[in-house]
Amino acid sequence: MADCTSLQRLIAGYRAFREGAWEQNRARYRMLAEHGQAPGVMVIGCCDSRVDPSLLFGAGPGELFIVRNVANLVPPFEPHGDYHGTSAALEFAVTCLGVGHVIVLGHTHCGGIKALREGLAEAGETGDFIARWMSIMNPARAAVLDAHPGAPEETVQRALEEASIRNSLANLETFPFVRERLRDGRLQIHGWQFDITSGELRGLDREHNAFVPLG
Ligand SMILES: [Zn+2]
Repeated sequence: MADCTSLQRLIAGYRAFREGAWEQNRARYRMLAEHGQAPGVMVIGCCDSRVDPSLLFGAGPGELFIVRNVANLVPPFEPHGDYHGTSAALEFAVTCLGVGHVIVLGHTHCGGIKALREGLAEAGETGDFIARWMSIMNPARAAVLDAHPGAPEETVQRALEEASIRNSLANLETFPFVRERLRDGRLQIHGWQFDITSGELRGLDREHNAFVPLG
C-alpha cells in the first residue's frame, strides 16, 4: 500500500500556502491570470528533488519559466518526428515569452551524471528511456574520461557535472532562434551550478572557462 504520509504532508503544505503566500500574492496572481505570464528568465534544471529553482532563488509566481529533466540536459536542435519536451519548452520561452535569460542549472551529486559516469546507460541497465536521453552527453563523457585517466570517482563526477552544463550551453546555441537572439543581444545564456553539500552557487565564467562563486 502506498505511503499516505507524504501526501498528507503535501496537503498540509498546500493549506499553509493558501493561508500564507497565496494571500500575500493575491493581487499578483490576479494580474498574472488576467494578463498572462511574462517571466524574464528560463531555468533548465535537473529533476532532482534537492534542487528546486524557485526555492533556491526565492522566486515568486510568474518570475521563472522552469523546465526540469534528468541531469539538466539540453538536446541539440533536431527538428524531426520524436517528442521533444525540453526543446518545446525552450522554443516557447524564447520565441513566445521572449525571456531575456536562459540559465542551465546543474548541481553536484547528480544521479543522472553518476549513471553516465558508471556507464549504466551504455550497459542498458537504466530502463527504456534514460540511456537514450543521457546519450546526449556521450561525446562530452568520452572527452572527460580521456582527460582524467585513473582519476578518483569524485573528480570524474565533478568534471562530468560541469561538462553537462557546458554541453547544454553549446547545444542551446544549435537552436536557430537562440543563436539569432544571442547575436542581437535579446538573449543571454548562463551555466550555473548548485553545490548541495556547501550550498554554494557557482557560475560558468565562459571567458576563463571556469566555475566561480556567485552571490
Ligand atoms: Zn541531477
